[in-house]
Amino acid sequence: MSHRLTGQVAVVTGASKGIGAAIAKHLAEEGAAVVVNYASSKDGAARVVAEITGKGGRAIAVQANVAQPAEVRRLFATAKEAFGRLDVLVNNAGVYEFAPLEDVTPEHFHKLFDLNVLGLILATREAARHFGPDGGSVVNISSVVATAAPPKASVYSATKAAVDAVTRSLAQELGPRHIRVNSINPGMVETEGTTAAGLTAHESAFRQQFESHSPLGRIGQPQDIAPAAVFLASHESGWITGETLHIAGGFR
Ligand code: NAP
Repeated sequence: MSHRLTGQVAVVTGASKGIGAAIAKHLAEEGAAVVVNYASSKDGAARVVAEITGKGGRAIAVQANVAQPAEVRRLFATAKEAFGRLDVLVNNAGVYEFAPLEDVTPEHFHKLFDLNVLGLILATREAARHFGPDGGSVVNISSVVATAAPPKASVYSATKAAVDAVTRSLAQELGPRHIRVNSINPGMVETEGTTAAGLTAHESAFRQQFESHSPLGRIGQPQDIAPAAVFLASHESGWITGETLHIAGGFR
């Protein structure tokens, strides 16, 4: 078994479930020590940590709302204290809420932008302070909605288009410090979040729409996304920065 991340330390935001949990486990399988961040799902985060440590890996769970600057600072200080260094940040924590135009409110706007965009920037700012002289890798979890921009998703799509712009801008800004910044743009993935929102049921119009426009004809699973995060975190992608990788079964 290869261990592409031995000796490295990764923070994964929103890793108590879904795509973030799968990424945390895959990073740990490659030898990284992983900080499993969560907002409120203490048990979920503990399960992810137990799964990693049960296989001989290193992980801790750290509660922090990444939309809050003081909590973000505490998250990274705790990571440094626990594992002594930082090499990888996966900005996965995010909310999706859909709303037709007439239901868009400032509250809806700020809820989505505060986490999906501001939270991602705050976490990256803090990570950039903690990366060592060899730099680091930031992997932003964006979405195909950044470009596909479906109806009733103006605000959510805007947050993910912003994530892609942040990826390109920070790749330019941080490249001289050997910090790479890339995005993964998943299509529809079956997670606790999408399932609770009723999006993944076979009779869901959302799912049917996605599958009928996807050449591979199915929605994704978290493990369809996680190996690409490992690749973008590792030195194998050492000359890749500022890119957006669509993982969506060919959906556009
Ligand atoms: P999910 O199942 O809803 O899980 C969300 C994760 O984010 C949980 O661990 C949650 O922790 C955490 N979180 C929520 N608010 C947070 C906050 N303020 N601070 C820190 N953590 C917070 O989500 P998912 O479906 O795996 O999606 C993960 C990411 O992929 C999101 O950025 C989403 O936009 C993106 N994405 C998802 C899909 C999809 O179809 N699933 C497609 C494209 C892109 P708690 O449980 O503790 O709240």
